[in-house]
Amino acid sequence: MPFDVSVRDVYLARQSIAPWVLQTPVIETLERDHGFKAYLKLENLQRTGSFKVRGAFNKLLSLDEEARARGVIAVTTGNHGRAVAYAARVLGLQAVICLSKDTVASKVEAIRRLGAEIVEAGESYDEAVEVAFDLRRRRGLAMIHPFDDPRVIAGQGTLGLELLEQIPQVDAILVPLSGGGLAAGVGVAVKATDPGIRLIGVSMVRGPVMIESLKAGHPLTLPEEKTLADALVGGIGEGNQHTFRMCHELVDETVLVSEDEIAAAMAFAYREHHVVVEGGGAVGLAALLSGKCEAYEESVAVVVSGGNVAVATLAKAMLGEIESMEI
Ligand SMILES: *Cc1c(COP(=O)(O)O)cnc(C)c1O
Repeated sequence: MPFDVSVRDVYLARQSIAPWVLQTPVIETLERDHGFKAYLKLENLQRTGSFKVRGAFNKLLSLDEEARARGVIAVTTGNHGRAVAYAARVLGLQAVICLSKDTVASKVEAIRRLGAEIVEAGESYDEAVEVAFDLRRRRGLAMIHPFDDPRVIAGQGTLGLELLEQIPQVDAILVPLSGGGLAAGVGVAVKATDPGIRLIGVSMVRGPVMIESLKAGHPLTLPEEKTLADALVGGIGEGNQHTFRMCHELVDETVLVSEDEIAAAMAFAYREHHVVVEGGGAVGLAALLSGKCEAYEESVAVVVSGGNVAVATLAKAMLGEIESMEI
């Protein structure tokens, strides 16, 4: 069965969102002799500090006049909400953003500054989802899903097209994996160009819902744990419609990284490249640095998916205080 997102949809998304998103830079990393070349795709420098604006703009732009007039709602661990709030403000729509109590304070503040209505709902991400669905019904808002929506997936896929233009020789791509919108979109884009390009999905040891679901063969629910990779927390939905199946077919390999490895990757990015990466954005780099994926490829690209991290958290990661730190 074909997916509900084609490579054409990704090209269409690219055209729609072009005025509003940046083409982020690629830099070379590990410039020592590792027998392979490694590159970082710096989506931490994207507008709002993560790739999520790609999907958010593509989805919002697809809404009809009536839906736009009523406004949109999103549930978020931070970055999706910030992206939706930003895109809504730019396009002149009302946005309601539902957050769980665990959401990182600096991310809540950024969303508030964008003028969105914030609803703090639920102890966990999954609880916030329920509150949001209820609000949507009552207020007739359009739900902007963080990953399980063809327009959102196509938007995230534009990152894959860019990557191919910037590093046409790439033969393996490491992507952070949570709900799977990023992996699915990038997968569609790159596999259509060359099915031999390996797509490696990386999650944290603390709550890798998609990876466990892929192993089980169906969507699972896991308890949410505290992790430096707060952007990767949350379920994939038991009624997952798109990303589970797409990741099942498009992701070649999965890797898990520990909190120490994530902290080391954040520190490395800052020290070596003066690049600020949040925990969720650093898991691909953590997988590479830890040597957990075989370096059998010649050109590896790592998607550095976001940079929204509190200074204090980054400092603790830098100082190696991770073991004692309250995340
Ligand atoms: C949302 C997010 C991810 C994961 O994307 P999915 O589409 O949910 O897999 C990775 N990194 C950052 C920084 C994010 O905000």
